[in-house]
Amino acid sequence: MVRPMAQMQQPPSTFSGLDEMPIGGKWRHGRSQRVNCDKNPYNGETLVEIPQASREDLEEAYRKAKEAQKSWGAKLPGDRSAVMRRAASIMEARREEVIDWLIREAGSTRIKASLEWDSVHSVMFEAAMLPYMVQGKILPADVPGKESRVYRHPVGVVGVISPWNWPLQLTARSLFPALAVGNAVVVKPASDTPVTGGLLLAKILEEAGLPESVLSVIVGAGSEVGDAFVTNLIPRVISFTGSTPVGRHIGRLAAEATILKRVDLELGGNSPFVVLDDADLEQTVSAAVFGKFLHQGQICMIANRFIVDDAIYDDFVGAFAERVRQLKVGDPDRPDTLIGPIINESQMEGLLQRIQEARSSGVREVVSGEPQGLVLPPHVFADVKNDQPLAKEELFGPVAPIIRAHGEEDALRLANDTTYGLSSAVFTGDMERGLRFAEQVEAGMTHVNDQPVNDLPFNPFGGEKNSGIGRFNGKWAVEAFTTDHWITMQRIPRRYPQNSEQIAGPWGGG
Ligand code: NAD
Repeated sequence: MVRPMAQMQQPPSTFSGLDEMPIGGKWRHGRSQRVNCDKNPYNGETLVEIPQASREDLEEAYRKAKEAQKSWGAKLPGDRSAVMRRAASIMEARREEVIDWLIREAGSTRIKASLEWDSVHSVMFEAAMLPYMVQGKILPADVPGKESRVYRHPVGVVGVISPWNWPLQLTARSLFPALAVGNAVVVKPASDTPVTGGLLLAKILEEAGLPESVLSVIVGAGSEVGDAFVTNLIPRVISFTGSTPVGRHIGRLAAEATILKRVDLELGGNSPFVVLDDADLEQTVSAAVFGKFLHQGQICMIANRFIVDDAIYDDFVGAFAERVRQLKVGDPDRPDTLIGPIINESQMEGLLQRIQEARSSGVREVVSGEPQGLVLPPHVFADVKNDQPLAKEELFGPVAPIIRAHGEEDALRLANDTTYGLSSAVFTGDMERGLRFAEQVEAGMTHVNDQPVNDLPFNPFGGEKNSGIGRFNGKWAVEAFTTDHWITMQRIPRRYPQNSEQIAGPWGGG
């Protein structure tokens, strides 16, 4: 039965018990010897210490998920939908608390944390519709008396692995659709974001009435539980969001597992932001600033390279640099900060090394600044070549390389000259020209006159080339987390051929 909203339990005032994780129906400490020390990247404050999960904990989570899925998958669509809607109301009631966790744990600025809250809230509403989109079919069959049906089922158990950069959304966009269509789920959040990448969502879903064991969260070290998370016999789909090298490894593990399983891989990006000669400079620069520096550039879709037509190049570099110098940098909790802390020391070291390499390669440094703790001020480099590391690799930081293009054809060649293919953007004063350009970009997503960071409910999100396999949202998520079962019923006895001359029409054999 769908429980009316009025009967919902009132949520407690703050999330508590976040040093424990839900494993097979019980919140408890993990049994590994290791402890995850969850820190605020801006001020180093310890937020929570979580005794991590072991291999045995992981196996228990999958085992219990498989059992619990049977009754969850058999519930009425309206019952599953109601859990999703209640989760959305709990998100509303706890908006400030969720945003605060995103700021403190993931180093999100208040702007980014509010955007992320909004996206997750939408994911929950979208998920409330998905139970009704799991639809079978009756198909025409070329055999007398045969009825051909396609039944669509949840796959069973789904394993979700998420990264640290948009942890709440990147877990939620797999978790909610997978649950909505009747699966049980085990989540492995990134070590930097165990709370926002898994535990908060588990608390919300528990309050929303999700039955025990349908969701477990495994906070564990990659070296201890990572491979086993993928090779375990129970999950039928692994939904992975993260870097391309780890994604390739996950794909290999899934292919070599005792029982093959599907993998959805949402991986790294190197989004081109193309500025054609007729672009509106002011609109383009304001999009460029947001599309490069939101969340300190730590977004898979972020503009990784600016490719700017010769005719507008100097104006763009000047206006962009001017705007970048005015950006608010530092405390992520302030309402107008655009650039907060980098997530951890190792990411910071990688970025500083990239900046050093760029300086020694002789490209023109237009904007720079000294790091304070983990806060790296914005850097802009002009006259970068497309084959230099600064343009070739995913930067994942507040560093903007600008490349000169000689006309539209050259801009398109440069945009496509990458092994990645996630998002992309083109700016022009002529929408038809923009559309023609967009159609030729080798990417899963292209936005004309908007920056590349876009993810909307019921719109297909995903990449080409080394940016991944699969699509999120709406019907694409339903496809990702369900499977077809073809069932035929032979209602009158079938006549089988006795010799080849009797086979005059379609036979339908295999
Ligand atoms: P990462 O690949 O290092 O880690 C991602 C997740 O994989 C983490 O939870 C990590 O613990 C886990 N992991 C690592 N080794 C594993 C193993 N052997 N088995 C199972 N799990 C394992 O990525 P990251 O540094 O957390 O995130 C940044 C990367 O994610 C960037 O490349 C970014 O572009 C990408 N990303 C992609 C998307 C997208 O939608 N395409 C979105 C956000 C981030």
